[in-house]
Amino acid sequence: MEGFITPNIVISKCIEFEVCRYNGQIIKCPFIEKTKPYMNFIPVCPECAIGMGVPREPIDIIIEGNKKRLIQTSTGKDFTEKMHRFNYSYFKSLNNIDGFLLKSKSPSCGIGNVKAYADSKKLKLITTTENGFFGDEVVNYYPSLAREDENSLTDMYRREHFLIKIFTLAKFRKICSFKNLIDFHKNNFLLFKAYNPDEKKIMDNIISKIESNNPVNVVEEYRNHLYKLFVHPPKPNDYIEFMIEIFNQFSNLISNQEKLLFMENIQRYKEGKITLSTNRKLLKSLIQRAGNTSYADQSFFNPYPGKLMETDYII
Ligand code: SF4
Repeated sequence: MEGFITPNIVISKCIEFEVCRYNGQIIKCPFIEKTKPYMNFIPVCPECAIGMGVPREPIDIIIEGNKKRLIQTSTGKDFTEKMHRFNYSYFKSLNNIDGFLLKSKSPSCGIGNVKAYADSKKLKLITTTENGFFGDEVVNYYPSLAREDENSLTDMYRREHFLIKIFTLAKFRKICSFKNLIDFHKNNFLLFKAYNPDEKKIMDNIISKIESNNPVNVVEEYRNHLYKLFVHPPKPNDYIEFMIEIFNQFSNLISNQEKLLFMENIQRYKEGKITLSTNRKLLKSLIQRAGNTSYADQSFFNPYPGKLMETDYII
């Protein structure tokens, strides 16, 4: 896969994998379908895993005092302890994960968008921003990894952020020497600068410790800042400024017609008519055409497999 490492992604099984929702349905998601050949998806259905059948009566989150419970309101059955036990053994057994794709609003899988009620009759809604029980553990065990749900994946910017993050983290996971780490940092120089120049500077300093033969806790320190760098995607306007900054370094080698084409494309990106990867591709080809090879290996121009660019326009 063009030098990429396949990301390991835990996914709610009802998204594109199995008919396992409480109502006997499956969630269709064109983005997931398209990305299947490029990811190692690890499907999980926590509710099926604790023995609930398909179809089944739905369960809900009930918060009484400081106790959060998972109750099947139609039968009064309490699944809280079963779910805790499943989560404990599941998360203990997980390894080498790069991200999560979870069903939104589910009392099991949802994160930050789940309804919780004050009583099992569901008479009083307390919040709509709770985590599901499985979602809670994702946040506890893996607070810094990539995570999205099927709704956020309809947003072009979030999709791209997710892809960039998981493919970069997967590559980082395979680092096994200081030389690998130095190469990784060099290869991601432009991408990191575009994401967060302050974090990138800190990471530069960490790398310089290796180069000055003082590598104590370097990989852990580097990992922490890599996670911080990827907390948010760059704002679209910051990305535009960054691309123009790169473009300006080569503009004296580029014809007026090509300059016009680049600026027109930037405008089209601002208007949401084309994607960032279309612009990155154009910028790379202009730089290459100008005869410059210094940025040839930069991940910024190729942060995930080229075929996945076809997912840019998926809704
Ligand atoms: S949301 Fe989670 S628990 Fe519910 S059906 Fe999907 S995978 Fe299973």
